[in-house]
Amino acid sequence: MKANKNLIYYIIIYYTVFRTIKLKLPYDSSLLETGRQFREACQMVLDYGFAEKTYNKNKLNRATYEDVRKTIPTLPSALVQTARDTASESLKQTKLKKKIHRKSYTLRYDKRTFRFYPDSNTISLTTVKGRLVFPVAQSPLIDKYRGKYTNAQVSIDVKQRRMFVMVQVEVDKEVENKAEVKDVKVVGIDRGIKNIAVLSNNKFFNTGHLKDVKGRYRYNRKRLQHAGTRAAHRKLKELIGRERRFVQDTNHVISRQIVNLPFDVIALEDLGIASMKTKGNGRRFNHKLGSWSPYQLEQFIEYKAEDLGKSVIYVDPKYTSQTCAKCGYIEKNNRKGSIFHCKNCNFQLHADLNASRNIEVLGKSEYFRLLSTSQSLRFDESMPTGMRETSSKPLPSGRGS
Ligand SMILES: [Zn+2]
Repeated sequence: MKANKNLIYYIIIYYTVFRTIKLKLPYDSSLLETGRQFREACQMVLDYGFAEKTYNKNKLNRATYEDVRKTIPTLPSALVQTARDTASESLKQTKLKKKIHRKSYTLRYDKRTFRFYPDSNTISLTTVKGRLVFPVAQSPLIDKYRGKYTNAQVSIDVKQRRMFVMVQVEVDKEVENKAEVKDVKVVGIDRGIKNIAVLSNNKFFNTGHLKDVKGRYRYNRKRLQHAGTRAAHRKLKELIGRERRFVQDTNHVISRQIVNLPFDVIALEDLGIASMKTKGNGRRFNHKLGSWSPYQLEQFIEYKAEDLGKSVIYVDPKYTSQTCAKCGYIEKNNRKGSIFHCKNCNFQLHADLNASRNIEVLGKSEYFRLLSTSQSLRFDESMPTGMRETSSKPLPSGRGS
């Protein structure tokens, strides 16, 4: 037997990740009214919190709950509570420094107030008219991300008369990897607004072009909105579709280039959780930017990597931008705009590149951590497929939250 030549490690890793599925809803008057009342409830809590200088959820609840219920009796109690949570997080984010006028009709749903049925493409949502079932548009993501549906968000665009639901799902992942464990190559990717993706091997994917194009679309959109004629309205719809396809094409091109690089493992920051819960530092991603492209890019990278037998590993984004990639010193002030300058060792680097190198290191250690808790099996590739063993025991503790 040709010793070792055919021996490869066949690794199966189990863990959980959070994914978001964005689905189109029919434009519905009950949901619209629910969104309006949710906004009103939020505003009452925002006003109280600002006046009393508190974002403490219990305090806000005690002080406003009865009042909100009396003023808006048709808004179900569970939504009054998520409205209060939403308000509390906004207050915390602005550090109570300025008065907030909530314009958005975005609704937040938790386990008590929604249920997603992936087999029938429907979702039931608590509304001012009681619990209602809505059809959702078909999407390949419904089958791709099956799991525990933990929470949801309904976004309402009154002007465009459009509604979407973002369903967050906890997915059990199973990653199969064929690699020599000792020389596994990891690339870290930092995603941002100025640069779509910065790779730890010094590759930058810039948004200069993207921003120009988006700016042009925005200009044309404004112009058409002002025109207000039926022809302009049709043009506007076309334009929005074209813009969406442009972002999608860009993400396809970038993800293709990334997965084709000679790396076995792609490490990304876990933005899934951060997007639904408002993070204290609210670093770089905010849906107000009106673009889902970082998530789309992530999803494209993931399935393209899967096709090539590569792994995508998610790491905690907490200190990746404040940590010195050279000496490990963590300080907020290390980063000044796009420059990273370590207060400890004087190391200087483009801030996104510094972050990507931290992500690479975290990705590598996360990969080995998962590896050490999974079963890895060695087998001879010349063995008939039927004889190949695979492990089937999931990890005792999932990763994530
Ligand atoms: Zn340093």
